[in-house]
Amino acid sequence: MDWKTLESRPGSFSKNFGWGDKPGLGLLHEAINAIFASGLEPVPRDEAREIIDALADGDPLVPLNFFLYHRVIDGVSCVVPDQLVVEAQARDHDKSFDLLGMCALNFSRVGVWERARPFQSHPAPWARRFVVEEVWNGTQWDTTKINSDTIEDFLKGNMIFGADRPRKFATNLNYLYHHSGLIGVRSSEKEDWWASAVFLFLDRCIMDGELDINTPVTDVIDFFEKEDLWALTAANPRLARFAARPIVEEYKNLLGLERLGEKANPPKPRTRSARTPLSTSARRKKAQARRPQDLGMNSVQRAYAQAQRQIRNKQHAMWVKGLYGNRCAICGKALVIDKSGSTYSEAGHVKPVGDPFKGPDHFSNILPFCPNHHKAFDRGGVWIDPNGASPRAMSTTNDLSFSNRPIDLEAEHAFDLTFAEWHAKYFGHIR
Ligand SMILES: [Zn+2]
Repeated sequence: MDWKTLESRPGSFSKNFGWGDKPGLGLLHEAINAIFASGLEPVPRDEAREIIDALADGDPLVPLNFFLYHRVIDGVSCVVPDQLVVEAQARDHDKSFDLLGMCALNFSRVGVWERARPFQSHPAPWARRFVVEEVWNGTQWDTTKINSDTIEDFLKGNMIFGADRPRKFATNLNYLYHHSGLIGVRSSEKEDWWASAVFLFLDRCIMDGELDINTPVTDVIDFFEKEDLWALTAANPRLARFAARPIVEEYKNLLGLERLGEKANPPKPRTRSARTPLSTSARRKKAQARRPQDLGMNSVQRAYAQAQRQIRNKQHAMWVKGLYGNRCAICGKALVIDKSGSTYSEAGHVKPVGDPFKGPDHFSNILPFCPNHHKAFDRGGVWIDPNGASPRAMSTTNDLSFSNRPIDLEAEHAFDLTFAEWHAKYFGHIR
């Protein structure tokens, strides 16, 4: 999609927002839990608005239109579940949720509702363009760009304002960036929340009809690049492809939108039996009855939590292999496996995961190995001497060609040498 040709209008973004006294986007988290209290099924938009009004307690509004996805189902405009809703339900409010919420805003894909004007399905191309064109410097976010003046200057040249005031608008957006903790995010591709952001982007691009669950993984990742996903999520472009692959694979294994209980035909929305307006106090009562702490973890959430763990583990392994271009930590060579020059390595845990050692399944405990040295490392024949000016690969096998070779650890890897020390001690190479 060419985002520059989309009409950019501020919509309700130039009103006064009420985010309450909760930290970050806590009110959005609470609102989503209240709206989807009955589970992962579409909720009529009118009902969702009432719930939000009651929660905000006369100090509206959480700008629903910018965060949640909309669909018209059987003639009823609904908000529908996606990864943002799943995340809100799966955990208490935290910073990861805020980051994901800001991604939802920046993706600017919110579907359609009845009487929506054409530009509303992409309500925030300005937010998207500001991040991609101003804040992103090609490798990370230049967060000095995020202030009301820069935002206002950027928007003035790119926005149809009508009677709305650009200053109010810029202040709102600036507030959100700072309030959400989005400032200072970099290299997010190794963070857990980034996997959720990729899921959310997939959900919305599939609902927009721009991707399909059967789209091959490589094509999906090419699409991500074309759509500036790395810029939108502050991911390192050199490593994001490696980190994204297992996430997309897991998404496909979970059958995409079907993991939300959604079939080819979306279920009918719940409807209130009598559509009589509720009094304010009745609405507030109703909203309070829907607090998330009243809910147990349902099977979707459990399945989801397990899937997230699997994704994260693979994400870390792929990321490390990508960081070193598949070069083996021991011999320093990247094994070429075909005519086109593809390389291969295996991710090894330096301190074994699981009983009895309980090493962490985390990039700080993972190194890339060629298959031979992976095996030899697991048996202690090769090891890493963590002491001295730089760590060195060591060998007690019949191949000493690489022994005493300095290992160039990438700073951004943040590999924890105490695991190498543990390994060397375990096999009795050092004391
Ligand atoms: Zn090797």
